[in-house]
Amino acid sequence: AKATGRDRVAVFEESMYADAVAEAETRAELERAVENDEFVVNYQPIVDLPSGRLIGVEALVRWQHPTRGLLGPNEFIAHTERTGLIVPIGARVLRVACSQVAAWHREIPAADRIRVSINLSARQFQEPGLLDTVREVLHDTGIAPERVVLEITESLLMHDVDATVVTLNELRAMGVRIAIDDFGTGYSSLSYLRRFPIDILKIDKAFIDGITANAEDATLAEAVVGLGRALRLQTVAEGIEHADQKSILSDLGCTYGQGYLFARPGTADEITVMVREAYE
Ligand code: C2E
Ligand code: CA
Ligand code: CA
Ligand code: CA
Repeated sequence: AKATGRDRVAVFEESMYADAVAEAETRAELERAVENDEFVVNYQPIVDLPSGRLIGVEALVRWQHPTRGLLGPNEFIAHTERTGLIVPIGARVLRVACSQVAAWHREIPAADRIRVSINLSARQFQEPGLLDTVREVLHDTGIAPERVVLEITESLLMHDVDATVVTLNELRAMGVRIAIDDFGTGYSSLSYLRRFPIDILKIDKAFIDGITANAEDATLAEAVVGLGRALRLQTVAEGIEHADQKSILSDLGCTYGQGYLFARPGTADEITVMVREAYE
């Protein structure tokens, strides 16, 4: 029995060693990917409710891996957050997405009000260079700042409230807008929410999923939309897959929607077709 215990320890150590090796390999691969610029940006339409008209897009990063194919963020973002590689990758996503949307504004004049939402992870938000990065990208791409939405999560807000308020105010002073992503899954209290200079609440898909079947989810979604209205914020419902979800949300007065019902994330070329259809 003692031997078994020792073996277990050995196996445990071996697997920790294997984890450390895998982690180091992934890190090296991701560093190479940053150098080779292997990240691509997809775009998912955000639409007006109930009309369904495209009013903006969310930029979603993918990794065009040389052998494993196109990888979604769930396969690498957590790792880049741990290592800090999210900072250069995120800056690249911001630049690519803003250039793309500026190109739509130039090429399709009626689409010059389309917005672009970009996800910021906590690590990027805490980086002192964030403000300069945003300022440079706005300058270089010529995009109107009010067309840019930065999405941050609730847990990031609660991390260091005073410092967060300062950074958000500086971003807002540049003219960009702030959305709270995955709203409802964190733990922000109503009183805190008032302290943050924000523009948009994105209601997490978890509540939208149950909205037609589950009275509690429907009540929560209704409460978030009401909260948004009371605080004069716009609301975006995420992960709308069914027409009945859309009609409930639009009856509740939710401003915007996003989800497979309207469109899946697509390449810049695929979304360009949709922008032309909506605005030409
Ligand atoms: P998120 O910000 O909540 O983005 C929405 C996710 O939901 C996207 O997954 C999108 O493809 C998916 N989605 C949208 N509509 C539907 C729907 O109707 N049904 C279902 N089942 N899914 C839907 P994706 O692209 O895999 O991104 C996952 C997460 O990775 C994002 O969640 C975001 O937290 C993170 N992420 C993506 N791009 C970036 C980035 O450039 N920077 C950072 N820091 N994080 C990113
Ligand atoms: Ca998001
Ligand atoms: Ca989200
Ligand atoms: Ca999410």
